[in-house]
Amino acid sequence: MRFNVTKSKRVKKPLVKISPSKKIIIKVPYYYTKENISTFIKHNEKRIKKWIKKQFSQTIFYEKIKFFEGDKIPFMGKFYELVYSYNQNKKLTLKDKFFLDIKYRKSARKIFYKWFKEKAGEILSNKLQYFAQKYKFKYTRLKISYGKSIYGTCSQNQEITLSFRILFFPEDVIDYIIIHELAHTQELNHSQKFWQIVEEIIPDFKEKRKWLKNNRNLTYIF
Ligand SMILES: [Zn+2]
Repeated sequence: MRFNVTKSKRVKKPLVKISPSKKIIIKVPYYYTKENISTFIKHNEKRIKKWIKKQFSQTIFYEKIKFFEGDKIPFMGKFYELVYSYNQNKKLTLKDKFFLDIKYRKSARKIFYKWFKEKAGEILSNKLQYFAQKYKFKYTRLKISYGKSIYGTCSQNQEITLSFRILFFPEDVIDYIIIHELAHTQELNHSQKFWQIVEEIIPDFKEKRKWLKNNRNLTYIF
């Protein structure tokens, strides 16, 4: 089995990960020597192999979007086909498919970024406001980020950040992420009390977490 080993200042003990491109990565603390690394692998090989096998059977690997005609682009749980069109009013519109004016073929990625960021500004801020009001949470403001592995954060002064990429997920999962961050306005950590707040609002939140775990590669498609 081939591993890519990387050193990290953030990990305290070795961590095995599978990248969106199916590479097996072992992250080790930055002070680890070659001997440390090979000892770790030797002692844990069986366990690692078993874990990897399980990961590959559960994780969904999505192909990167190249913005060719016919590519499927996710938006709120559905995949929409990309079609190039001629002389549209807007650069990009979504109907039953994504229609992008052929003039902008070369900047497709940039235009999609912009479209998703704008949508995130509308949809996520409406949802956040709605849920905050409904469940009596207070937040100060919303920022939209580009995060791939971090879907959302909540700061100590109740400022919430959400990645525009969560718009790739189904709506119930988006709602879970928003509730999760709102719950942090009351409990900054992931204590039992925190999960109780989440569970009261989303009783099957564990299902959403499982979906996220298995579909985490979806945010890496562009
Ligand atoms: Zn959290």
